[in-house]
Amino acid sequence: MKTVIINVIVVTMNEAREIHNPGFVMFEKDTILATGPMKDLPKEENVSGAHFIDGKNGILMPGMVNLHTHMGMIPFRGLGDDCKDRLRVFLLPMENKAMDQEMVYLSTRYAAGEMLLSGVTSVLDMYYYEEEAAKAMDEMGMRGIAGQTVMNEGACDFSDPFDAIAYGERLIKKYAAHPRISACVAPHGTSTCSKEVLLAAYQADASYQVPFTIHTAEMDYEMEYFRKDYGMTPVQYLDSIGVLGEVTVAAHCIHMTEEDLLLLKKSGAKVAHCIGSNTKAAKGVAPVTNMLEKEIPVGLGTDGPASGNTLDLLTQMKLCADFHKNETKDRSAFPAEIIVSLATIQGAKALGLDAVTGSIEPGKQADMVLVETGSANMFPVYDPYSALVYSANPSNVEAVYVAGECLVKDKSLVNVELNELRDSLIQKMKKTEFRKYMVL
Ligand SMILES: [Zn+2]
Repeated sequence: MKTVIINVIVVTMNEAREIHNPGFVMFEKDTILATGPMKDLPKEENVSGAHFIDGKNGILMPGMVNLHTHMGMIPFRGLGDDCKDRLRVFLLPMENKAMDQEMVYLSTRYAAGEMLLSGVTSVLDMYYYEEEAAKAMDEMGMRGIAGQTVMNEGACDFSDPFDAIAYGERLIKKYAAHPRISACVAPHGTSTCSKEVLLAAYQADASYQVPFTIHTAEMDYEMEYFRKDYGMTPVQYLDSIGVLGEVTVAAHCIHMTEEDLLLLKKSGAKVAHCIGSNTKAAKGVAPVTNMLEKEIPVGLGTDGPASGNTLDLLTQMKLCADFHKNETKDRSAFPAEIIVSLATIQGAKALGLDAVTGSIEPGKQADMVLVETGSANMFPVYDPYSALVYSANPSNVEAVYVAGECLVKDKSLVNVELNELRDSLIQKMKKTEFRKYMVL
């Protein structure tokens, strides 16, 4: 049966950046059939029996793409937020003591629910026990890539990084034909993985054409390590060993030289820009204006809930505007349309999914978000891009579709209660070290 959403401002994010106002979108099963202004709505006889949904003048935008997060880390949200050495005091010890398959599964389910409620329909995840994450994302109906994290010193799931790579490769094969879920091997960082580990991970990802994603040029100690031991930057190092390429999705890229940017450009690597996480941790602001001038592909990421706290891209879009305008001392810099493109079609391009998602166009998957305009903070609307970037927040997300399936309706998850996701995660957390810190 066809579904037609009518009376909406359709922000297509197609090449011509068309906006249909008032407009409609028609889709059947998982595929968008048509979109356009209401006056072009197919005659009744052509859509007989179709299910009509009145969008009530809301903004219908493509599903957003979260290019970098750690869905298994919901239990860490808010833990040691203002602690100077949070990584060593809280994260690493707790990860080793309390993280297991069940925790990753329950946390990823919760994170998927949270993201869907805010209009994120696709995600590149990066954590441990990613088979559990892939299963959870699939059950929640999301579009996602499960990145199996690999680290030299070992982690809560594998003590040997090569075992983790083999597990990641098995996962890539397992999901190779899945319509929404895929997998990749995701080395933790430039300085936390040996050259051999980076090469093996890259070979696995490149041979299956899935993202090779890695924390890059994020930490001060990482910069210092490469300067002292190699006389180069992390980006130069990745390039020198041959793991900077089309499939590389480098997360953060805060500390960049002009030469680093030219290397990214030359290699075809992509950048996951995580402004909220970077500025909260006082790490700096990535030179995204310069990246975009050089036409380096950039998308937006929230980073994990321990780092950026929230997993929605509406918050990231606003932060992106605020910080980059402030840095350039130019209120016209980084216009809202560009920011919406980073959260949608550019993110999809970074994942090699732009033929599938990231814009509202016939033939693409029906991954769409209806942002209502009836709430106090959404009135009036002059420019839908500016309404999305500067006015909207996740509480304005009315409905969400992934592959044509309505997963959020009337601002609630359709297939499962958020409370149920939370309760099962709380029960699990209470059985671990987390109970020592929980006040709620
Ligand atoms: Zn991260």
